[in-house]
Amino acid sequence: MAEIENRPTNFIRTIIDADLASGKHQQTHTRFPPEPNGFLHIGHAKSICLNFGIAQDYKGLCNLRFDDTNPEKEDINYVKSIQEDVSWLGFKWDGDICYSSNYFDQLHGYAVELIEKGLAYVCFLSPDQAREYRGTLTEPGKNSPYRDTPVEENLALFEKMRKGEFKEGECVLRAKIDMASSFMVLRDPIIYRIRFAHHHQTGDKWCIYPMYDFTHCISDALEGITHSLCTLEFQDNRRLYDWVLDNISIDCHPQQIEFSRLNLEYTVMSKRKLNELVVNGHVEGWDDPRMPTIAGLRRRGYTPASIREFCKRIGITKQDNMVEMGMLEACIRDDLNENAPRAMAVLDPIKVVIENFEEGKVEHLVAPNHPNDESMGTRELPFTRELYIEREDFRVEANKKFKRLVLGKEVRLRNAYVIKAERFDEDAEGNITTLYCSYDADTLGKNPSDGRKVKGVIHWVSATHCIEAQVRQYDRLFSVPNPAAAEDFTQTLNPESLVIINQAKLEPSLAQAKAEQGFQFERMGYYSRDNKASELVFNQTVGLRDSWAKIENA
Ligand code: ATP
Ligand code: MG
Repeated sequence: MAEIENRPTNFIRTIIDADLASGKHQQTHTRFPPEPNGFLHIGHAKSICLNFGIAQDYKGLCNLRFDDTNPEKEDINYVKSIQEDVSWLGFKWDGDICYSSNYFDQLHGYAVELIEKGLAYVCFLSPDQAREYRGTLTEPGKNSPYRDTPVEENLALFEKMRKGEFKEGECVLRAKIDMASSFMVLRDPIIYRIRFAHHHQTGDKWCIYPMYDFTHCISDALEGITHSLCTLEFQDNRRLYDWVLDNISIDCHPQQIEFSRLNLEYTVMSKRKLNELVVNGHVEGWDDPRMPTIAGLRRRGYTPASIREFCKRIGITKQDNMVEMGMLEACIRDDLNENAPRAMAVLDPIKVVIENFEEGKVEHLVAPNHPNDESMGTRELPFTRELYIEREDFRVEANKKFKRLVLGKEVRLRNAYVIKAERFDEDAEGNITTLYCSYDADTLGKNPSDGRKVKGVIHWVSATHCIEAQVRQYDRLFSVPNPAAAEDFTQTLNPESLVIINQAKLEPSLAQAKAEQGFQFERMGYYSRDNKASELVFNQTVGLRDSWAKIENA
């Protein structure tokens, strides 16, 4: 898909334009800072496209930084999957990959500096007591009894924390700011805590770990970030971001700017919830094609361009909102409509015998791979006496609106001949087992010569030359628009989100499909070859039309 060339405009780019014009910055430097505690999802794609997109358009820099201060929840496999997803989306980070954990020595030094300035203290209140002292949104907090411990003593206590001489949870290091602040985050926030945990990057070197708010701003500043873009829930934390940088000896002071996070209907976006789906076996894994993860969308058949286009279409604002799933689906549909080769597949077959076509004969028809793009070439379609058509494409009786095959009437087989349904066999339950037809040999690529009109076109495959494959029909993972609002979101899972068709009949050319290659199965939808299964498996990416729009409008 030709991505629209013009640059997006939004309030963040307006700020950047002004900063470059005024000479505040010569070059932009952004970063994408995931915590490696799960796979990236489509919400992260919004942030990736924003941060890397700015670097691209302004010829700036963008770092990939793992915000890895929670050793217990993080995993090196997530570190790997995140790099792969960012690259797959088409972005390249500048320089080496960054890790907040690379800065643990410096962060420790800045914590010591705060203590020396009388701006941090070791606090032994229990978590319950600390909560009580913190106050509420309407009541100020109370000062901790440890708040006025002399500097020398705090330095010694913090050193004991570092050496592992206190138990986990026994004490923490807190910034000394303002227990009466209307911003809860400024009520002497914790900046270091004790965790006897092995870290995927630093091993067992540390048993004290810095908190997110302390780490993030310093990491940004150490990397020379100019604009630190984050989601709206960090609005209050900006006060702490600025306080830390104002009170330590560091020259760089990035500007934090918040934007609204992406919420998408019929799915959940929090990594905690996605993890629950994986751990409890509701899906096959983080890359299950029903998951809103980048890896899941990829396996489903989404292209990087379609996801970038989606991020462009939703834009960047400060308004919280819920984006319709149809909007994401429209992006991949537009892409595949233009770029996916056409193929034929019969998912629910009935056998057709063309009685006036010679037994054993194979006619090699040629079909274009794309109706509007000759450059995509052609392929051969074997036409034989026995074929399959879609069960729902035949009716014994039907009114004029049914533009497919009806007993005693004609229909065109796509890329082939006009056939007429003559009679059929059925089993004891009344299911049609075989349909007997005749074909008009003079209708290949042209209308019947006697001027009779044949309106309908249906798809087909040769029964003797087709290949079989598993086709996975995917639907939305949840049956309600906002599963996160439910008491238990797993109760709103769509029981029909996956229907497996084991022996779908495919035209032979599809045996050559490459992993992740997308096709339009004519009249059925868009499908892509699964990137995991060694056998031939196709995953439904999206239908040809937005069937949900109808349901929702009804
Ligand atoms: P989650 O709540 O899904 O676990 P998170 O914010 O904890 O997400 P991080 O790994 O910390 O996940 O996020 C990395 C970056 O991606 C952050 O800058 C964050 O603001 C951004 N981000 C995460 N979720 C979204 C979203 N839904 N929309 C836009 N940006 C997001
Ligand atoms: Mg986070």
